[in-house]
Amino acid sequence: MNKHIREMVPYSSARDEFSGHADIYLDANESWLGGNDGINRYPDPLCRKLRKEIEKTLGIPYQMTAVGNGSDEIIDMLIRIFCEPGKDSVMIERPTYGEYSVLASLNNVAVIDVPLQESLQLDKSGMLKAIAERKLKILFICSPNNPTGIVYSLDDIAELADCNEGITVVDEAYSDFSEDFRSAVSLIESNKRVVVMRTLSKAWGLAGARIGIMAADPEIIAVFNKAKAPYNVSRLGQDAAIGALVNIEAEKAVVDEIRRERKRLGAFLLLLPYIRWVIPSEANFILAGVDDPGRFCSYLASCGIVVRNRSSEPLLSGGVRITIGSEEENMKLEEALVGYSKMQEEGPVCR
Ligand SMILES: *Cc1c(COP(=O)(O)O)cnc(C)c1O
Repeated sequence: MNKHIREMVPYSSARDEFSGHADIYLDANESWLGGNDGINRYPDPLCRKLRKEIEKTLGIPYQMTAVGNGSDEIIDMLIRIFCEPGKDSVMIERPTYGEYSVLASLNNVAVIDVPLQESLQLDKSGMLKAIAERKLKILFICSPNNPTGIVYSLDDIAELADCNEGITVVDEAYSDFSEDFRSAVSLIESNKRVVVMRTLSKAWGLAGARIGIMAADPEIIAVFNKAKAPYNVSRLGQDAAIGALVNIEAEKAVVDEIRRERKRLGAFLLLLPYIRWVIPSEANFILAGVDDPGRFCSYLASCGIVVRNRSSEPLLSGGVRITIGSEEENMKLEEALVGYSKMQEEGPVCR
């Protein structure tokens, strides 16, 4: 941990200094005018009610969680807490989620990247070698990985985390969509340098509310809470998150439908002549290889459907990432995909 973080005196907010119940709050220069939702008041800096709900619904103990303004804030804070700018480095695999390296660069922290294997699995021996050669502050592992949808072996992750003297961050943003998923949360008990991230942006439908969850040893949780902005998660966000977690049946139904549609759409894609490969995904998207991804994406855009061209990423030549939409959206996508086949044969048509 950076010395200046260890030694800094945290900001002490009005909400930190008084936490009981009072009739009249004249301690935070808030407005007395407000609706029933309490939006005129500052939110709880420690998201206590939300974290109790996280414990109940996700099964992660209260004292092992903290909440960020999206996972992106958690990534940024971990880099700022553990890495000295201009000196330390973090390690990522490629291809993976782009924010790890962007946030490292923002903080002037070097990025060591180790390519995945051809199979898009972790190159464990390459990573172990890189870990032994260069002392890392943070190793980022994304499982299921974005943009491949592939889940890595928890035993491999545990071995890498044990050999890494720094922090190992396991990003489980898409874990809800994976069947028989083994979470890295179980590793924290025996390795206090493991940090796991979850988000309510994907399976829980709250991307606009910005709720990222960090599971870690209470010592890391305490440092995160000391270093973060005091009111990093809005009251609206906390309330929306509690509402979503209480309604777990709705989440389960959506996840079930997405898994069904993922299977169906994957099989459909493989029947199309211009699709070269489809990676079996455990996330809410499918990565498929197409003959001319630029042309393919602009065709779909002309039909009003936007997908993500990932073909410039290493190992992903021709790769296009397609989010699993609702059944109705997927039907429209399939219609457009059939139209693209016809266009290849007969020239431009788009309905
Ligand atoms: C979408 C995504 C997130 C979520 O980020 P938030 O800031 O919580 O919305 C985190 N990690 C990965 C790999 C993602 O794809």
